[in-house]
Amino acid sequence: MKLILQYLRRHIGIFLLSTMFLTLEATADLLQPTFMSFIVDHGVVHSDIRKILFYGMIMLLIAFAGAFSAVMRNRFASRTSQTIGKEMRQDMYHNVQQLSLENIDRLQPASVITRITNDVSQVQELINSIMRMMVKAPITCVGAIVLILIQTPKQAPVMLGIMIAVTILILANMKVGYPRFGMVQRKLDKLNGVTREFLSAVRVVKAFNAEDEETEKFDKASAELAKANVAALHAASYFSPLINLTVNFGIVLLLWISKDQNSSEIGKLMASVNYMTQVLFAVTMISNVINVAVRAMASSGRIQEVLDEKPAQQFPTQPLRPDIQGEIVFENVSFAYAGAGKEALKEVSFTIHPGETVGIIGPTGSGKTTLVNLVPRLYDASSGRILIDGCDVTQIDETLLRNSIAVAAQKPLLFTGSIRDNLRWGKEDASDEEIRKAAQIACADDFIQKTENGYDTWLGQGGVNLSGGQKQRLSLARALVCNPRILVLDDCTSALDAQTEANVLNGLKKYAGSLTILLISQRVSTVMQTNRILCLEDGAVKGFGTHAQLMQNCELYKTIYQSQIGGEQHDR
Ligand code: ADP
Ligand code: MG
Repeated sequence: MKLILQYLRRHIGIFLLSTMFLTLEATADLLQPTFMSFIVDHGVVHSDIRKILFYGMIMLLIAFAGAFSAVMRNRFASRTSQTIGKEMRQDMYHNVQQLSLENIDRLQPASVITRITNDVSQVQELINSIMRMMVKAPITCVGAIVLILIQTPKQAPVMLGIMIAVTILILANMKVGYPRFGMVQRKLDKLNGVTREFLSAVRVVKAFNAEDEETEKFDKASAELAKANVAALHAASYFSPLINLTVNFGIVLLLWISKDQNSSEIGKLMASVNYMTQVLFAVTMISNVINVAVRAMASSGRIQEVLDEKPAQQFPTQPLRPDIQGEIVFENVSFAYAGAGKEALKEVSFTIHPGETVGIIGPTGSGKTTLVNLVPRLYDASSGRILIDGCDVTQIDETLLRNSIAVAAQKPLLFTGSIRDNLRWGKEDASDEEIRKAAQIACADDFIQKTENGYDTWLGQGGVNLSGGQKQRLSLARALVCNPRILVLDDCTSALDAQTEANVLNGLKKYAGSLTILLISQRVSTVMQTNRILCLEDGAVKGFGTHAQLMQNCELYKTIYQSQIGGEQHDR
């Protein structure tokens, strides 16, 4: 609730204006029955046509004023709620962008999406409802009651009884509804999670004929959401009819009490029944707003969580800006993913010299990707230090650090846009010449030229219209365009045929110069072409040296070598 107030405060002017129109509207509504009772008691009963016309005209004018106010407050309400929604979404997105991977892992991407879209909509609806009726309903309620009491004081106890009953009903509604609507949002998260996972892995799902399992997962999540919704709406469904019933019962009681009223006061009686109906209407509105509020409160808590999430990583306020040469030192580095039981890296130590090309090999899950991710600080080491040119990476300027290191990731991620846009991703002002040169080294130029629009060929989301090998080569070219000091290639030649891979590696060798390269590969034949090889198993270094050295003193390397060499040519 605090969150909603905080955003409303920024639009306090419009909010007050709309409150003013609401008050006007409520007053107009309240005046109508009184003038009607004048028409009846002074006009109709005495057959005075002039009085009927006079009060009739006044009623018409009031009706116009009421209608005008209604239009205005609706417009203000829509505008304000939409603006606040926009601001909330932007603030959330902005904060999410500041977060490190560890935060995102914890919040879960699917849930962040639900929060930015659905939860914000709930809050928007609340603001809209509040601005449409918040002031009006209480004014109508209180005003109508006061007017009834003035005109027909005998009815006071009945009124009081009804109001107490209605208040109890509204409070009960809140108590029952709140936890249930929170549950609905959590189930929605889950459904979005399942859908997202399926869509991002749709090729694998189809290839393994796993549609049935996925459908089952989806059906389950969908059924759970429906169940949570039904539970929440069921709870709400009792209250509004109960409130109606209570107020209608009150109207009957009022009429009963007034049954022996003086016939000259028939107009007053009509007015008080009319007021009672207004009270009913206002109370229904209030209970509706409260229903919306209950949902929005659950949502605003979830929005607050995203806004409050503090980046897990700290960057130095007075960062170092070394002239990066490319020496990389790991000192007793251990790392565990948040929530994972075991460490992904254990006491890893090594030194890589500037300009060296180092191969990294090891079984899947041995920590190769994790190790290279620590260098540009995608994650921070749990213990130990990582030094670049003698500077602790946590002390180096973030922009400098990330600009000096380019990564061609294991799973190449491309964005919607032209090939040129994608290659320019890491360096906005790269010339066509630079882009072409990078593409040539990555052996991507040939296939790009063969596409219909060359470098202007449009890529779908994630580069769906490319083959795995083409995506890898584009991702490599993109890394080269950055013109980094340290180049990380995470198994980014795995989808290439032997000849193309050899061409890429040769190109890189010529291009490398003083560049430090970390080359991850599953293939011995690939890492054999590097200066030195780091051999990893279960997050620990099993050997570090040249091919010849490792063949002598690293059992793991020897095993991998023997299992691959010979079979090597066939398994591509
Ligand atoms: P490799 O690249 O050698 O195949 P990784 O570095 O990707 O290995 O993974 C090392 C270990 O860390 C594995 O056990 C893997 O399950 C785990 N791991 C990788 N990424 C994450 C993550 N985001 N959250 C939790 N555990 C992870
Ligand atoms: Mg990996």
